[in-house]
Amino acid sequence: MECFVLGIGGMMPMPGRRLSSVAVRVEGQLYLFDGGEGTQVPYKELHLGLRSLDLIAVSHLHADHVLGLPGLLMLRGQMPDPGPLTILGPPGLARFIRNIRADLRMHIRYPIEIKEWSKDADRLAYRDALVNIFWQPLEHSVFCLGYRMEEHQRPGRFDPDRARELGVPAGPLFGQLQRGQTITTPQGTTVEPTEVLGPTRRGRHMVFATDTIPCRSLVELLDAADIAFVESMFLPDDEEDAREKKHMTAAQAAGAAAEAKVQQLLLFHISPRYERRELKRFADIARSIHPNANVAKEGQIIAIPLPD
Ligand SMILES: [Zn+2]
Ligand SMILES: [Zn+2]
Repeated sequence: MECFVLGIGGMMPMPGRRLSSVAVRVEGQLYLFDGGEGTQVPYKELHLGLRSLDLIAVSHLHADHVLGLPGLLMLRGQMPDPGPLTILGPPGLARFIRNIRADLRMHIRYPIEIKEWSKDADRLAYRDALVNIFWQPLEHSVFCLGYRMEEHQRPGRFDPDRARELGVPAGPLFGQLQRGQTITTPQGTTVEPTEVLGPTRRGRHMVFATDTIPCRSLVELLDAADIAFVESMFLPDDEEDAREKKHMTAAQAAGAAAEAKVQQLLLFHISPRYERRELKRFADIARSIHPNANVAKEGQIIAIPLPD
């Protein structure tokens, strides 16, 4: 699992600071979280390619998180036969996309499935062969969703010595057992995968949590994630503004991540009022609360190691 930081800004794109968006790659498959104005530019710079982008998750209907969607949809349409696209997001997203497609006369020839959160929606928003994506409402000035992406569990570690003891010769039968299939040895004995595999191992967990005040729901979403991108619009000196605008300070973001025992915290969605040199203060404050915290950097690629 690799995370690509496309931007770390909040509110508006600025010279040298693009809007908050993260792409995640799992075994070649790409998942995009939010697409504000201009997101297609860093997407191209990082050579992510659109062929394997089949899912976009949208946090909320504020301009700095969705105005880049039309461009991304058109760009994807330039490929021959791009295949269907799923977009997850808040109520109202389907109407937004429908209207913008009609008003801009966008010619999109591939199917788009839009799945909106609703009160009785399952916590599991999306599932494919590689990951589950969960969504959870946060607390912002408009309805806003946080996302948690979990790789599926992996089979336990294979014990070749044990397999040989059970009469399995090295070769294709080893592979079948590793893939969880029951096999028959040349002597006619049946061997179950559980006899030669250790306990199942968990996959990697990533959280994308932007535009919220500190809340219980955020801590639950962050629960022991391997990596979490958490909004931190303000420095603690501006806590009053954070409260009023329904955002967090660096200290609040780090506090939530520390409470949830997140492994690695990356702050993003920084207010345009802070200059680049002030980002160090965000990092210092966060690190005084969560030892493995930093401000995400644009263009940064973070490989998340397997937990075992
Ligand atoms: Zn925002
Ligand atoms: Zn917002």
